[in-house]
Amino acid sequence: MSQGYGFRCKKCNRSYFAMYGNGLMHEEAYMEKIREIESGKYGVEWKVLYEYIPNLIFDPDRTIYMCGYCELWENDVDVSLYEPINPVETQRCIDEAIKKYGEDGKTIYEAWLSKEERDRGYFPFREYRRICQGCGNVMKKIPYEELKWLPCPDCGELNSHWLYAMGD
Ligand SMILES: [Zn+2]
Ligand SMILES: [Zn+2]
Repeated sequence: MSQGYGFRCKKCNRSYFAMYGNGLMHEEAYMEKIREIESGKYGVEWKVLYEYIPNLIFDPDRTIYMCGYCELWENDVDVSLYEPINPVETQRCIDEAIKKYGEDGKTIYEAWLSKEERDRGYFPFREYRRICQGCGNVMKKIPYEELKWLPCPDCGELNSHWLYAMGD
């Protein structure tokens, strides 16, 4: 399930959306992020960690990051990495998923882990620090309730919003 807000800027007429979650596209979103990590979009360190340490995962849900200095925001996945508390048990679950879904089994298993399963079975390994493209400061995740105050990405105007939801 994903939900968020839609906006239309009263000054420059731009439409923009801010969403939490990923609707029904968990797997695709997860695959896409893996490709981006592997291509080096999140830096060489992330690429190497993800490639060489077995069974690291991240949360496929989108979230909102905001820069506290220049108010630039980004709607993206938090690629902070988590590692299995019990690697043997995790590998057993992955093997089972591969038996059931073929070679995509590992991705399917990891993409569909619920928050509870992730909290129970994994612990934080490395937090991803998202750097603001505008001013170079570290961006922070903002709580869902604050989404309605997101300024227009083009002109910075604050706008009224409507509720937007998709998925299950
Ligand atoms: Zn605008
Ligand atoms: Zn900034």
